[in-house]
Amino acid sequence: MANKKNNNEPTCSFCGRKESEVPYLMQGRTGAICNECMEYLASTMSSMGIISIHDESEPKKQPAHMPTKVSELPRPAEIKAFLDQYVIGQDEAKVVLSVAVYNHYKRLMHEEQEDNEGSVEIEKSNILIVGETGTGKTLMARTIARILHVPFCIADATTLTEAGYVGDDVENVLVRLLQAADYDVAAAERGIVFIDEIDKIARKGDNPSITRDVSGEGVQQAMLKLLEGAVVNVPPQGGRKHPEQKTIAVNTRNILFIAGGAFDGIDRTIAARLNSNVIGYGGVQTRSRVDKDNFLRYIQPMDVRHFGLIPELVGRFPMLTHLEPLGRDALLRILTEPKNALVNQYCELFAMDQCKLSFEPAALEAVVDTAVKYKLGARGLRSIMEAVMTDFMYRLPDEYRGKALVITRAEVMRCVERSTISANS
Ligand code: ADP
Repeated sequence: MANKKNNNEPTCSFCGRKESEVPYLMQGRTGAICNECMEYLASTMSSMGIISIHDESEPKKQPAHMPTKVSELPRPAEIKAFLDQYVIGQDEAKVVLSVAVYNHYKRLMHEEQEDNEGSVEIEKSNILIVGETGTGKTLMARTIARILHVPFCIADATTLTEAGYVGDDVENVLVRLLQAADYDVAAAERGIVFIDEIDKIARKGDNPSITRDVSGEGVQQAMLKLLEGAVVNVPPQGGRKHPEQKTIAVNTRNILFIAGGAFDGIDRTIAARLNSNVIGYGGVQTRSRVDKDNFLRYIQPMDVRHFGLIPELVGRFPMLTHLEPLGRDALLRILTEPKNALVNQYCELFAMDQCKLSFEPAALEAVVDTAVKYKLGARGLRSIMEAVMTDFMYRLPDEYRGKALVITRAEVMRCVERSTISANS
């Protein structure tokens, strides 16, 4: 990394500008970086998920003003079209989510109408999304957060434990919502909470994949209260409640809950149920129609109960939907199609160095094949691309500036072989 030019004035190792040409230049032992490149890299890395500058799912600012007429609301098709820009496939879940958000708004409007005394009460429809890890549950939640007109937060169920154990009280899922609403309680009371990894609070029972028990049924009972609609005392900074602590009362009646979980092994439960149903009622014909590669599409509330969620809790999620496993085609699309697709991100990084980066289609297929071969899923695409691109990025300013660079299949294979991906898997 050359960072001194002729007159010994330090220069940015990335854009090449001199110290006198930029507001700030930070020098390291072997290179330097100016404030603009630093900002650009930080935002790129943040969008790649390498670092976290701020959490987009938890905007500190108050969400945009909620429309006052139904005709002003984003229609379900518009919400889905927005999701389509970032999330590949998963159409069924997208439709369920879009409708839920649309109905949530309408329900809030309905509640506010003064003349609705005696009219039909619209109940909320919390959603449970079941899908293998890395198929886009959290991505979907984060994406939807960008267009919402109500406060939104993502809470992690794995941190919750029953009162008396080390961990967080269930009420803590509302702390983030309060933060997202800038502690405006009325706004938070109309918000949406995404509870990630809800399967981790399943009762330890007939399912061998559940290893913790401190959460279990007690946490589910506590969560039930939130879902049913209750006035809950929330410690404003989170953590365990204690008697002297000041709390904020939040009514959860109008808060929409969306929960997601991988429910590892639930496909076996579904398969067993389908199998006995088929033998019992459907005969050979029904059995042949079952898609054996994707049992999740047949998920029923009883499967979730069998997994270890108590019936009352399952009953509080009237909408149950699933995410499809990501096949080779979907992974290929994930590499290139979303607005912030990995390929676009690298092209952007290289363009900053005036290098026109492109990938042979066969090279991208090799990346996907590697992810499939080592069962790395969509998350693995990132690490494979990093393994492939690191060397090029290292040489970029010296060798490729002002040039075009095409990544070939052979390059991908060479980099994968040399990396730890093949060794570790
Ligand atoms: P989950 O919450 O289901 O475990 P995530 O939503 O965290 O999975 O997905 C992990 C990463 O994989 C995402 O950040 C995204 O880059 C990629 N990914 C997963 N599913 C999809 C999808 N359907 N479309 C686009 N990218 C996806």
